[in-house]
Amino acid sequence: MNENNKLYHELMKAAIDARGRSYSPYSGFSVGAALLTKSGRIFTGANIENSGYTATVCAERIAFFRALSEGEREFSAIAIAGGAKEEPDSGVAPCGVCRQVMSEFCDGNFKIILLDGGLTVLTLGELLPMRFDRSNLIKK
Ligand SMILES: [Zn+2]
Repeated sequence: MNENNKLYHELMKAAIDARGRSYSPYSGFSVGAALLTKSGRIFTGANIENSGYTATVCAERIAFFRALSEGEREFSAIAIAGGAKEEPDSGVAPCGVCRQVMSEFCDGNFKIILLDGGLTVLTLGELLPMRFDRSNLIKK
């Protein structure tokens, strides 16, 4: 197992632990995320539902906003674990809104790690090609 694999497994373990803290009484679909900063810190998040559905926030965005509010701005990878309550994990991928939030702070090489049997490592560039990001608004 190379260093990245070891790190990604550690990150996935943190995502699985975070999933246990999900508040998802309406959908029963619990998700945990663990975000790795370039400085080596890990920020976790779990999805938090609300009876007013639009107030619900995904695990990935909670992890990002926790890290951003602590001053972090550079990120390497995020591990995501989730599925229906009875399922151990269904290899859930981030929703479009979360992909857009990732694109604000991460380049196309940002790693997105899913648990789908084993670890599946994708990039933001693969999951959100031709994205709209800051380069569309701020010209150098
Ligand atoms: Zn999302």
